[in-house]
Amino acid sequence: MPICELRRVTRSYGSGVGRVDAIREITLSIEPGEFTVLCGPSGSGKTTLLNQIGCLDAPTAGELFLEGRPTARMTSGELSRLRAGKIGFIFQSFNLIPVLTAVENIELALELAGRAAGAREAALAMLPEVGLDGLAHRRPSELSGGQQQRVAIARALVKRPVLVIADEPTANLDSANGEQVLDVMRRLNATLGTTFIFSSHDPRVVAHARRVVTLVDGAIAADEARAPAPGIRP
Ligand code: ADP
Ligand code: MG
Repeated sequence: MPICELRRVTRSYGSGVGRVDAIREITLSIEPGEFTVLCGPSGSGKTTLLNQIGCLDAPTAGELFLEGRPTARMTSGELSRLRAGKIGFIFQSFNLIPVLTAVENIELALELAGRAAGAREAALAMLPEVGLDGLAHRRPSELSGGQQQRVAIARALVKRPVLVIADEPTANLDSANGEQVLDVMRRLNATLGTTFIFSSHDPRVVAHARRVVTLVDGAIAADEARAPAPGIRP
């Protein structure tokens, strides 16, 4: 069963002559274990589509299914529980809480998902997974951009979500840090089997994906399978 399935999903903003269809009749399935990149020029609808997949926003038309269940029939409480428990988010600007340390930022994700017991240990155990041993007690301002994004990855993964959604996760990083972040995501995909979907318009990032979905003007222009990039270190 797909983790997530969209059937003819449209999201429009505004109305009348000012109406913009940010995505138009998108039909797409995300299967367990995929490592998929969404690419396309700025304004092509990548963020809008990821927000639909992550249930941060509802479709104007069409249907969305998470693990086979139609989201339209879920209450907002059910949807937030599902998001907190099953979906991890990574953002372009890291979105860490500045007054919390690295380990506290990670721990908070478990607490918000109602899983406070053992949260500190689980958060500490994530640090070596993302190459941040010894940096548990640094605040975001004491970490590089690449390190901050790896804290954000740990925060997304500590809940063991079925799906991780990352909107341009490397856009604010230089290429060395971008590579490291991508490497960590690929390794977690390989070792934990976590499904990733992320957006990027950086060709170096796109080269790492095993499925490349290209958006143009809010519609899918191409959906291609790729051989895994060399150098994966599970
Ligand atoms: P991308 O992430 O690929 O840059 P977006 O999903 O952000 O694309 O935007 C797709 C289109 O929808 C753009 O034309 C954008 O201007 C429009 N759009 C996005 N969000 C809003 C919004 N909240 N209100 C109005 N228009 C929006
Ligand atoms: Mg965007």
